[in-house]
Amino acid sequence: MDARVTRPNDLSGFWMPYTANKAFRERPRMCVSAKDMHYVADDGRLILDGTAALWCVNAGHARPRIVEAVQRQVAELDFAPSFQFGHPKAFTLASRIAQMMPAGLDHVFFANSGSEAVDSALKIALAYHRARGEGQRVRLIGRERGYHGSGFGGTAVGGIVKNRAAFGAQVHPVDHIRHTHLPENRFSRGCPAHGAELADDLERLVALHDASTIAAVIVEPMAGSTGVLLPPQGYLERLRSICDRHGILLIFDEVITAFGRLGAPSGAEFFGVTPDIMTLAKGITNATVPMGAAVVSDEIYRTVTDNGGPLIEFFHGYTYSGHPLACAAALATLETYEEEGLFARTAALAPAWEERIHRLRERRNVVDIRNLGLVGAVELAPREGAPGARGYEAIWRAFDKGLMVRVTGDIIALSPPLIVSEEQVDEMFSTLEAVIDEID
Ligand code: PLP
Repeated sequence: MDARVTRPNDLSGFWMPYTANKAFRERPRMCVSAKDMHYVADDGRLILDGTAALWCVNAGHARPRIVEAVQRQVAELDFAPSFQFGHPKAFTLASRIAQMMPAGLDHVFFANSGSEAVDSALKIALAYHRARGEGQRVRLIGRERGYHGSGFGGTAVGGIVKNRAAFGAQVHPVDHIRHTHLPENRFSRGCPAHGAELADDLERLVALHDASTIAAVIVEPMAGSTGVLLPPQGYLERLRSICDRHGILLIFDEVITAFGRLGAPSGAEFFGVTPDIMTLAKGITNATVPMGAAVVSDEIYRTVTDNGGPLIEFFHGYTYSGHPLACAAALATLETYEEEGLFARTAALAPAWEERIHRLRERRNVVDIRNLGLVGAVELAPREGAPGARGYEAIWRAFDKGLMVRVTGDIIALSPPLIVSEEQVDEMFSTLEAVIDEID
């Protein structure tokens, strides 16, 4: 497989997202093709995909069923609008997703990314309260160190300071509960034992703002992008019951956790806690075609549609909501997951994954290791006066050694495609050990 291509002379035109642009230009890392567990770099080297790209290529790269479905679809129906018209695959897909997700989450609003899914979910929550005569419930609650994409709504409820700092006042009244990352839980295997009571922080915000002003709480069941922060045992159940007590909607942002990452169709199912609204993206199409979705309870759907306008009930949507290519990709992706039993496979592989990642504990600068399903994080101590420097070094050193990792600050995250073999898991961590050993 020789995929050598000419590197473009000018790398300044593309303003890269969430990227150290200048540093990238000095040391570019280009992928030119991909198959199953590997990328091919522009110098022809195979790069083991340790992160399913951005936690999204769950079934592995360029899977024939998905590729062919998209190819067929583009020739048959390249596009059809979803405003006042429809096409069959969008309805079929919505039903399939509703079947896969926990009972009671029955209606699917399509978007094109996780960010749009989140903004849609937040708007649905606001519209729901208004439709039931509680239009004063406009406050949205996020969580510190949460990531909910880059839309204005998602940025506002997100809890990452750097993502918010440049953008002024944000939108809406928003507040944040505490994150779930406690020092006493270092090196926990799976969900940590301590910290269920952190959910009670929602009671503090209820006391401060009054429940009657709060529309919804949004959390990732397992926070991925901020460095794999796991929910303490019992935390999500407690959050659910506090929301119920105060009539606050609970939104699970499952952009990363749905579609097998934890060994179940959703984090909700894995943790046994059902939200009122769930957001999806990434693994929904195996990342082949962009797609996001907000999945809502029947009660929310009926309340909004029964009390909305006489014709259009909910004034929200995107030109590409339910795009035919995305629907074809998603249907083929869900078939692939099912046919290959990839969620059960993940659950079966998780103990070996846990065992292997925790062997990195004695490596230098390692201050914590976390794991769940096929997700892992190795946290390095920040270099004196240069937080993030060790993490950044890990990205390029790993790439040089043929491994793609994802880094948040000094936390190295791994989340391979769910087709990964045990040998590849070992290769991944052996490479990472070599990388960490090189970083002073
Ligand atoms: N929500 C969560 C939990 C995510 O992890 C992400 C992306 O990583 C998003 C939302 C945003 O998704 P997108 O980048 O597709 O807009």
